[in-house]
Amino acid sequence: MSALLILGGTAEARELAGALHDRGVPVVSSLAGRVAAPRLPPGEVRIGGFGGAEGLERWLVEHDVFAVIDATHPFAARMSASAFEACARAGVPLLRLERPGWRERPGDRWHWVDDVEAAARAVEGLGRRALLALGRQEVAAFAGIESTWFLIRSVGPPDPPLPPRHELLLDRGPFTVSGELGVLEEHRIDVVVTRDSGGDQTAAKLDAARERGLPVVVVRRPSSPEADAVTTVAEAAAWASARADRAAAAEESSPDRSCNLDRAGG
Ligand code: NAP
Repeated sequence: MSALLILGGTAEARELAGALHDRGVPVVSSLAGRVAAPRLPPGEVRIGGFGGAEGLERWLVEHDVFAVIDATHPFAARMSASAFEACARAGVPLLRLERPGWRERPGDRWHWVDDVEAAARAVEGLGRRALLALGRQEVAAFAGIESTWFLIRSVGPPDPPLPPRHELLLDRGPFTVSGELGVLEEHRIDVVVTRDSGGDQTAAKLDAARERGLPVVVVRRPSSPEADAVTTVAEAAAWASARADRAAAAEESSPDRSCNLDRAGG
């Protein structure tokens, strides 16, 4: 039986897997395997990299995948590029599910930068005590900064090297505005550094920074491949259901299947 592959690691991917599981669409969710105790989606799950675009292409063919939904995090650029290439080569339809980016509101003091290196350059001029809310692999860009103290918050321990003056806070969303105000106050934070991850789960720090009048350095999203894209789980689920119906109809009418039915019918 063929299946749909969800490239996951996000809340939306889990929600989508649940919705499709409930509808009876055969789904395999894929996780990178970076987090020690990941929140698992309903249904079948595989864990670990595929070995680049070629490895993924092989996997799609071997597992008879009828469609792929790339629901990875907006900053998981390598996986998205790999999915785009592998699906094109294997002739498998691909949809990108990507939550919209955050929008500035009145009272915000945001400083947009293109990457974490630019964020590191910007932060020194903006504050002495920074909340770093970035991916584990991105903290090293701040390692050379001595004049700023960092509260490094991430899901798992960040990859070294780390800035000389810091404290680690291992935590993952969803976060609340009151919780974030508490963090800003307790650590006397005067600048926040984040990526434009979008979504509700980690947006509270932006509300808290606005309330306190603090500057926020926001890293722009990397460019993504030109795949067809939607922004909501409902749209992705509708697309997946239609693809599943088509795959089932094709399986019904395939020569192998009619041959089996002939045989079964004597
Ligand atoms: P990345 O830099 O784009 O991917 C690096 C490599 O990890 C990929 O080339 C792939 O290895 C493997 N990989 C990534 N996502 C995978 C998946 N869903 N299933 C199987 N293999 C995967 O990705 P990343 O930024 O390290 O993110 C890794 C995972 O964490 C993703 O699933 C993402 O949705 C989730 N996540 C990331 C962030 C973030 O800040 N980047 C935040 C929240 C959640 P191969 O080349 O060997 O296939």
